[in-house]
Amino acid sequence: MFNKQTLKDFELKGKKVLLRVDFNVPLNSNLQITNDKRIRETLPTINYLIEQGAKIIIVSHLGRPEGKVKAEFSLKPVAERLRELLKKPVILTDDVAGPDTFKYVRAMKEGDVVMMENVRFDPGEEANDPEFAKKLASLADIYCNDAFGTMHRAHASTTKVAEYLPSCAGLLVEKELSVLGGALENPARPFVVIIGGAKVKDKIALISRLIEVADAVLIGGAMAYTFLRAQGHNVGKSIIEKDKITLARLLLEKAKTQNVKIVLPVDHIVTGEFSFSADYVVSTTKKFPRTGMGMDIGPKTIKLFEHYINKAKTVFWNGPLGVSEFQRFATGTNEIAKTLANAKAYTIVGGGDSAKAIEQLNLQNKIDFVSTGGGAALKLLEGVALPGLQAISEKL
Ligand code: AMP
Repeated sequence: MFNKQTLKDFELKGKKVLLRVDFNVPLNSNLQITNDKRIRETLPTINYLIEQGAKIIIVSHLGRPEGKVKAEFSLKPVAERLRELLKKPVILTDDVAGPDTFKYVRAMKEGDVVMMENVRFDPGEEANDPEFAKKLASLADIYCNDAFGTMHRAHASTTKVAEYLPSCAGLLVEKELSVLGGALENPARPFVVIIGGAKVKDKIALISRLIEVADAVLIGGAMAYTFLRAQGHNVGKSIIEKDKITLARLLLEKAKTQNVKIVLPVDHIVTGEFSFSADYVVSTTKKFPRTGMGMDIGPKTIKLFEHYINKAKTVFWNGPLGVSEFQRFATGTNEIAKTLANAKAYTIVGGGDSAKAIEQLNLQNKIDFVSTGGGAALKLLEGVALPGLQAISEKL
């Protein structure tokens, strides 16, 4: 599907490889890593490079330091975790492709790992600055992009740098592209898609694209209310995007002509206000209270969605089915996560809040594939060109 080189196309022994990874992991207020999935998922690439005798120069961002050096965005906790996972030394340099980085890189031996400080400490990174990209490139012989979660961003270390070095995709990027690309190209059927979350405007293109490949699209979360409104239902004070109602109507029509089922909630957990402790009632779509606000899918909808999931051979899920940050309104999201974990289908979770729910319930080992890139996964499925992927593909 993608015309690009991979690590396995290169002779790596003794070569300096600039490895862009996405170690943008969540930290707590004590700067401790609360979830190291993104580091663990990159280990196959790093270990492969070590086995091949490459010299590995790791580049990553962490958070949004906005082009300035800020201690709270240092990669120190990440380097420490990587040392533990690799069981070998990992040098963290004091700068970003500066004198300290060059000093350590010059001294590297085969299999050594050096990580430079947060690449976003340099304003050239997010500006996609060619001079900064050249500086990064001058450190290495080969550029490898394994930062799937950042591939939808055109930054110096994800895009521009590929203009100055032989370039390839890492093993994690390969895996992400093959699973997500495979779902679009040739899914085992029935292929059921579950879309939740709040912003119709962010996901409308995705839904439109998925209607072309899926057999059923189940819509929950706040998103569902714009669609229900488009069908003429009263949805009380639920969050809707008025300017997207017409588009939602067009999508419902498109699905009908393509013989794809769009399944909307038939009942709801309804409150009088948006609050974590609000009292609630269960209402059907038909009897939705005029002053009520839909906070989660109801029990009948959970059963209905389960019915589709249990008949599916492939399921893709993105977005919470209710206000899952509030425990009281996380039932729909959690029940669907559990159903997915027990489903016979090949299950794919597209990052973001749905991946978080899976991890909180400790179900990650029961899902076939949890993407490391929420935004990037959605853009890929939408059919939007990812700048990071284009950069390493165009050179063939
Ligand atoms: P998104 O970034 O589009 O995936 O949206 C995620 C957000 O959708 C979360 O913060 C949820 O709280 C929110 N959300 C899901 N369902 C609802 C709902 N019924 N009403 C309001 N917000 C919701």
